Amino acid sequence: MAPTISKIVQTLQPSATIAMAGMARELRAEGETVYDLSLGEPDFDTPAHIRDAAVQAMEDGKTHYTPAPGIPELRKAVADDYLARHGIQYKPTQVVISCGAKHALHNVFTALLNPGDEVIIPAPYWVSYEALVQLTGATPVIVQTTQASDFKLTPGALSEAVTPNTKILLLCSPSNPTGSMYSPEELGALADVVIEKDLLVVADEIYERLVYPGHKFVSFATLHDELPERTMLINGVSKTYAMTGWRIGWSMTPENVAKSISSLQSQETSNPTSVSQWASIAALSGPQECVTEMLAEFTKRREFVMKRVAEIPGLSCPEMGGAFYAYMNISEHLGRKYNGVQVDDSTTWCLELLSQKKVATVMGSAFGTEGYARASFATSMENLEAAFDRIEEFVKK
Ligand code: PMP
Ligand code: GLU
Repeated sequence: MAPTISKIVQTLQPSATIAMAGMARELRAEGETVYDLSLGEPDFDTPAHIRDAAVQAMEDGKTHYTPAPGIPELRKAVADDYLARHGIQYKPTQVVISCGAKHALHNVFTALLNPGDEVIIPAPYWVSYEALVQLTGATPVIVQTTQASDFKLTPGALSEAVTPNTKILLLCSPSNPTGSMYSPEELGALADVVIEKDLLVVADEIYERLVYPGHKFVSFATLHDELPERTMLINGVSKTYAMTGWRIGWSMTPENVAKSISSLQSQETSNPTSVSQWASIAALSGPQECVTEMLAEFTKRREFVMKRVAEIPGLSCPEMGGAFYAYMNISEHLGRKYNGVQVDDSTTWCLELLSQKKVATVMGSAFGTEGYARASFATSMENLEAAFDRIEEFVKK
């Protein structure tokens, strides 16, 4: 008889972004040409000076366990980087290096949440937030936002969602999956509610270096003196430095939370990969031209994608202030037949687009909103051109 899976894991759905990328990979292995807009993963190679630092670390024998919360040099480099760019002073002991920002989120939720606690998550939200909260036994409270308000949570909607059990508000700006960014004023208005209602905030700032001209990023905790003690900041090297596979992210939190996360991590992973940590120091402390160059390329792709989405009848998406996703409104194209297949929801639409046109996107339902599909433009212009031609053919049929 097959072993019984735990109740909590039984309810867990696999990550839809990773599942769609897996389906694209399988089709490719069968010999199909697939235009993959599924995963939010920069297509660039990790810059050479970062790779060299990893090789040097291996040559120097830095291949052993490290302290559980990460090597002091990287914790300091992270704190120095935030001070230099955002003017906010964190102690290195407040920084815990983890195996990617996803792991840092898991750590923060596990360290703070009890069953019965509620976490307010504005939708559309990145696929893993809901699952990571559920794993702790706490309750995700999803608050819908609208395309008309650029998918941003309003202070009024936040106030209404707060109950005596609310512990955390989750904010992701620039947003995955919509690319929306809160202005400093909008964040300030949310911060007022956070303070008034005595909440904590998990601020996922992983896309803070991928911000397009005309938009301004401010780090949430800098907005008010009371916020550093309420804010659990999440960031990492995956998106900024094209380092997704190195698995380095971090949390910056009040010291007691950092200590708890460090204990948790000492039991669950011992430490993040030693060599990746040394490479991440080179990323943060080395030349930053690579970031500017990648951003320039993303800026071109963003313009192209916004133009193509606007040209295709019945499609629209909010203007992206940051990150590398277009959140396409496909609702006008639902309730129709595509090559004889009835398509009524975003999952069927994305699966048919993949099977009929070999274009991989991610269904809006995975991000908590029906009627949308996410297209990642962290892929080559050539790929984007072919993919959008095919999306156009698909919806025109
Ligand atoms: N937060 C957001 C909003 C993301 O899009 C991602 C991408 N996977 C992560 C966190 C996690 O990043 P990583 O684990 O690769 O550091
Ligand atoms: N964050 C990326 C995405 O949304 C990577 C995949 C994942 O971890 O979900 O596509």
